[in-house]
Amino acid sequence: MQKPLIEAKNLTVRYTIGGGLLTKAVFLNAVDDISISIDKGNFFGLVGESGSGKTTLGRALLRAAPISDGTVTYDDGEVHYDLRNLSKPELKEYRKRAQLIFQDPYAALSPRMTVRDIIAEPLEVMGLTRTRDDTDARVREIAAKCRLNLEHLRRFPHAFSGGQRQRISIARALVSGPRFIVADESVAALDVSIQADVLNLLKSIQQEMGISFLFISHDLSVVAHVCDHVAVMYLGQLVETAPTRDLFARPRHPYTSALISAIPPLDPDAPTNIEKLEGEIPSPTNPPSGCKFHTRCRFARDLCKKDIPKLRAMGKERFVACHFAEEFDFSRKLAASEPAGA
Ligand code: SF4
Repeated sequence: MQKPLIEAKNLTVRYTIGGGLLTKAVFLNAVDDISISIDKGNFFGLVGESGSGKTTLGRALLRAAPISDGTVTYDDGEVHYDLRNLSKPELKEYRKRAQLIFQDPYAALSPRMTVRDIIAEPLEVMGLTRTRDDTDARVREIAAKCRLNLEHLRRFPHAFSGGQRQRISIARALVSGPRFIVADESVAALDVSIQADVLNLLKSIQQEMGISFLFISHDLSVVAHVCDHVAVMYLGQLVETAPTRDLFARPRHPYTSALISAIPPLDPDAPTNIEKLEGEIPSPTNPPSGCKFHTRCRFARDLCKKDIPKLRAMGKERFVACHFAEEFDFSRKLAASEPAGA
């Protein structure tokens, strides 16, 4: 069996708030006991409402958020790292192999640098090229992959549209030759017509270069079309993971089902059956007991308030954290245009 590229076991990211002279320290588990693995070349989607901990999980896998408990390992066949115990040289090496694409293409690029210098910067900082000619050759190679032409390299970011800026950000993330990329809401700030262009680019990069993606999004319709596998997060925990087509055709967790039911249909006249989620996601500083979703779940019973449901296997490659998942049937007929990614 193929080893996963990146694997987290019982990962917890904990922050402390307050704790000064007059305030009591409050602990917040932004990521709470999560186990997840991403295979080589996989386009892995991570969904959930704002405040569910998606960004923090992505950052922990990049070693950009503290790993308080549990383990995260990275193994691309050339190097094997325990991310919790990286030496400085290992961390430097890991930065070349694991990169981030930011959400906002307007804020992510320095307005004072040319596109050539923006893409070249990681090469120079990480010492990956020896001469200016080497750097220029690598910049041109990656720019072409991201459909930027030579003329673009001399210009400044303000001369570009949002979609073009995001392609510059992608080129910058690719230039060090990463094996793993976290794309955090990377198309959320773009117009719908431009989103498809950037998504197609990411997908072609995954297929041509064999890079694994963690694609973080609150937009399930986008995830349905590009991801191979999807994990659903709620209040710092995973509630369901499955191959994309299985998850969308037959969600087994009430939260997953509610999120999927809210995807607008392609046909505006098609009947909708939105399972409305009552209330807001609770504060992670004071999470509900038992199943964290019980305060908003229409199926909650007494047991849900007391016992924490474990993420357990339900069929091939599907894991669900719900005491009563076997009782629910949230099957839905997929339109021909739905989850093409699976
Ligand atoms: Fe709902 Fe209970 Fe299942 Fe949680 S464990 S999702 S509260 S039915």
